[in-house]
Amino acid sequence: MMFFRKIVAKFAEWLQPEHKLVYVDELPRNVKDKTIYIVGDVKQPWLLAFNCPCGCQNLIQLNLLKDAAPCWGFKVNKKNKINIYPSVWRTTGCESHFFVRKGKIDWVRGYESYRKTKGFLSFWK
Ligand SMILES: [Zn+2]
Repeated sequence: MMFFRKIVAKFAEWLQPEHKLVYVDELPRNVKDKTIYIVGDVKQPWLLAFNCPCGCQNLIQLNLLKDAAPCWGFKVNKKNKINIYPSVWRTTGCESHFFVRKGKIDWVRGYESYRKTKGFLSFWK
């Protein structure tokens, strides 16, 4: 059964809608789901922000400034899909650990990720 669940989880990850990218000067009060906000100057943004993909409703904010730690980087490809590196690992709350690759969430933990994508699966019902 574990194996099957892993397949389902992988399938769910594959099917998930990609995150939209929005460039903003300031982070809006109401952050939409499935949207990654790139905050600051288009050429030199200082923050990435998005709702935690596990559905816990926490806002994840990733610092892009190299003189502060921890610091993340990102790349947007020609199809406007974002890669974020390194992975995002929340040490508090839901403790989600995932990569953002091509605008999609790539969960790090196996079965744990199945549990977290359940919310996503219900989205597709
Ligand atoms: Zn979460």
